Amino acid sequence: MPRPARMHAVSDETTEIVDSVLDYARRRALYRDVPLDKPMTERELRRLAPGSITPEGIGARRAIARFEDVLAPACLSIDHPGYLSFIPSAPTKAAIAFDVVVSASAIYGGSWAEGAGAVYAENEVLHWLAAEFGLPEGAGGVFVQGGTIGNLSALVAARQAARERREAEGLPAPRRWVVVGSAEAHSSIASAAGVMDVDVLPVATGDDGLLHGAAVAAALDSLADEDRAAFAVVATAGTTNFGIVDDLASIAAVTREREVWLHVDGAYGLAAALVPETRPLFAGVEFADSLIVDPHKWLFAPFDACALIYRDPGHGKRAHTQHAEYLDTLTEADDWNPADFAVQLTRRARGLPLWFSLATHGTEHYREAIASGIELARRIADEIERRDGVHLVRDPQLSVVVFQREGWSPADYRAWSDRLLDEQLAFVVPSSHEGETVLRFAIVSPLTTFERLTEILDTLE
Ligand SMILES: *Cc1c(COP(=O)(O)O)cnc(C)c1O
Repeated sequence: MPRPARMHAVSDETTEIVDSVLDYARRRALYRDVPLDKPMTERELRRLAPGSITPEGIGARRAIARFEDVLAPACLSIDHPGYLSFIPSAPTKAAIAFDVVVSASAIYGGSWAEGAGAVYAENEVLHWLAAEFGLPEGAGGVFVQGGTIGNLSALVAARQAARERREAEGLPAPRRWVVVGSAEAHSSIASAAGVMDVDVLPVATGDDGLLHGAAVAAALDSLADEDRAAFAVVATAGTTNFGIVDDLASIAAVTREREVWLHVDGAYGLAAALVPETRPLFAGVEFADSLIVDPHKWLFAPFDACALIYRDPGHGKRAHTQHAEYLDTLTEADDWNPADFAVQLTRRARGLPLWFSLATHGTEHYREAIASGIELARRIADEIERRDGVHLVRDPQLSVVVFQREGWSPADYRAWSDRLLDEQLAFVVPSSHEGETVLRFAIVSPLTTFERLTEILDTLE
């Protein structure tokens, strides 16, 4: 298609602005050794980067220099191989670069009518994931901002489905709706319940740390005499603190028998279902009514993206489609509109960086990269067991290794963690388990090496 000449007629000034930004983006994306960096106080930042917002503007060169020299170094690089806290992110260079393209392309990702090409590509990724997890054809969903919004959106759809079923059966609404989940479920489940004004019924895990079907069945039975009703059971496929995968198969057997919606929160761990050796841990995920997995965690995509997939997207659509006169033209068409499947309307086509990187590298590359994290976790767990003065809190199931330094107080752990960051060796913050301080290595980046981890362990001696 010939492009109008007008498209090339941007001013020199605009060209310079775009160049200076893309030059920096290119440099940052191609860093071989990303700096770990660390936060500054607001006082320091005010001194080093005062008054960027002025009536006349400070110009692109000064603004980008300020970002590069002051603001960026005051942000941790989550993709640093020594960033091992929370759940890190380790986007591929391909995904990072394509994120710039998404920004440059002014794509509206909420509707097919506006973003058909992008939505098609995002759906290709969602359908690939759905098939990997064993969901039937027809399963689909949307990329949302993160696991928190993904969990909330799935639970809203689950409650809607439960309401519809009760109405169809001529039953009155329960006094309270209840979501059942393990005591180890992610904090976003309680947050979603708060937003939805529903109750959470926490279920104790077994001695193995897993939620099992029998405990879920007992919890559901305990509601039978109450005027409360469960609309969903949440199983976690890879807890954030330990990387534990609940016993999905036994839980799914219970939810299927009792016709309760099963939501699988796999924000971090479900990526490991792509690896043949760990796939059996996820047996039962194929019965999920909805599930999430965050590409910004263990699928090597940049912030922020969560894949939310429904077994029957019709439930998501009935719960989430917004109706307004100005939207009728979109919602009355039979198109696949991503905005219909979650708590959002306008959306960035945030699945595209993953689409591009998957298309570039192929799915085998992904399986290998995830497997390498799991293997490294096993290796460093063995090393911890071998060493004096440190011990594992439990055997790693995925790529989170939790351990303790014997004889240390919480203050010792904190001081050690601060020192590690000051020396720019690593970012490892203390966590806690059953009231005791513990350390965690959450391994995601293929650039994290055994040598780096042993170097960190050496500092514990
Ligand atoms: C990280 C995480 C979430 C929340 O995801 P965000 O993308 O941070 O909103 C939910 N559940 C689990 C199991 C997680 O690990």
